[in-house]
Amino acid sequence: MTPIPYGKQFITPEDIQAVVETLQSEYLTQGPKIKEFEDAFSKYIGCQYAVAVSNGTAALHLSTLALGVKPGQKAITTPITFAASANCIRYCGGEVTFCDIDPESYLLDIRKVKAILEAVPKGTYAGIVPVDFGGLAVDLEAIKKLADEFGLWIIEDACHAPGGFFVDQSGEKQHCGNGKFADLSIFSFHPVKHIAAGEGGMITTNSRILYEKLLTLRTHGITRDIGRFSNSKAFAASDHLATSYPGWYMEMQTLGYNYRMTDFQAALGLSQLKRADEGLKRRRAIAKTYDEAFKSHSLIHSQLNELEGNTGHAYHLYVIQVPDRLGLYNHLRKDKIFPQVHYIPTHLMPYYRELGWKVGDLPYAEAYYTKCLSLPMYPTLTDEEQEYVIKSITSYFGKY
Ligand SMILES: *Cc1c(COP(=O)(O)O)cnc(C)c1O
Repeated sequence: MTPIPYGKQFITPEDIQAVVETLQSEYLTQGPKIKEFEDAFSKYIGCQYAVAVSNGTAALHLSTLALGVKPGQKAITTPITFAASANCIRYCGGEVTFCDIDPESYLLDIRKVKAILEAVPKGTYAGIVPVDFGGLAVDLEAIKKLADEFGLWIIEDACHAPGGFFVDQSGEKQHCGNGKFADLSIFSFHPVKHIAAGEGGMITTNSRILYEKLLTLRTHGITRDIGRFSNSKAFAASDHLATSYPGWYMEMQTLGYNYRMTDFQAALGLSQLKRADEGLKRRRAIAKTYDEAFKSHSLIHSQLNELEGNTGHAYHLYVIQVPDRLGLYNHLRKDKIFPQVHYIPTHLMPYYRELGWKVGDLPYAEAYYTKCLSLPMYPTLTDEEQEYVIKSITSYFGKY
């Protein structure tokens, strides 16, 4: 048996061909593949605009910049996520308030979010960063209601959930990142995520204003749009009689960054996107097999699924909670199975401890961390491999 990781990219000859073709084309970066990828991605997700960037963390940073997060402003997020979900608030000098999770879904507990907001005067909090952890879609409709009441922006961290959805009050499917409830949603194309581009990220939105801000911020705050120039034509052309802007002219209007994606990454992402539905289907089938295998084991608890018929979980991760997690982890590794822990609570990272967070602040998140383990979950995991994983886990608990 070859080693079985918890996640793995899937590269086909078509993917390789797509990258090679781009390498042989005129553009390595800032060419046509970026827009093609953005258009295909927004269509897939069901939103109006998409902005491709260099990685998911850059997507988060540009989001807080575009929303105008200022030093001292407060925003809420979950501790059970990759640290970047919180760090993006810090990049702009904002303050992070971690809110505890729901013990069944492992997502932000909306009742606790509400309690945090109600305990202080309105206007104390500027925004919220909910995370579709593991691929389970957060109820953005409920979060949007709170956001409207308390004047918050919403950045949905949907890195785990392209293709995931929840069902809203009216019974309609709401896909992660579709722009209906969140101001901005972000995705990552790191190799362990659903769609791999090497490195890469995407921001989706239905706001034209935010979209245009993001385009500018992504590339140094520079615009080449004549309609938006602020200096005069005479200055631009160094000719007091000039009646138009010269061809070379551009303006840096805000402090931006170089957070661009390359064209060959976009070509890979675009090629991978074509198989996204297939990959999602396989992930859901793998999850179902795990569900079946563990449902009679009282010591193994899987992340809350959704209600019958609502199969919106995108399964970036398949997370279980078990007693003696360390024992199981070591046992699996002996069998050449490499599970992972997602996540060490962000508020207990030394950086955030130094800002005042401590053990005991978020009991559910901390209890979750003592038991969680992410099992192998990727489209090319074979039935035989999964059976081997399940046997290894159940045999370990057999001794109890
Ligand atoms: C992967 C990930 C990120 C960061 O994406 P990068 O592309 O690695 O920068 C942010 N949030 C979550 C939840 C992630 O899983």
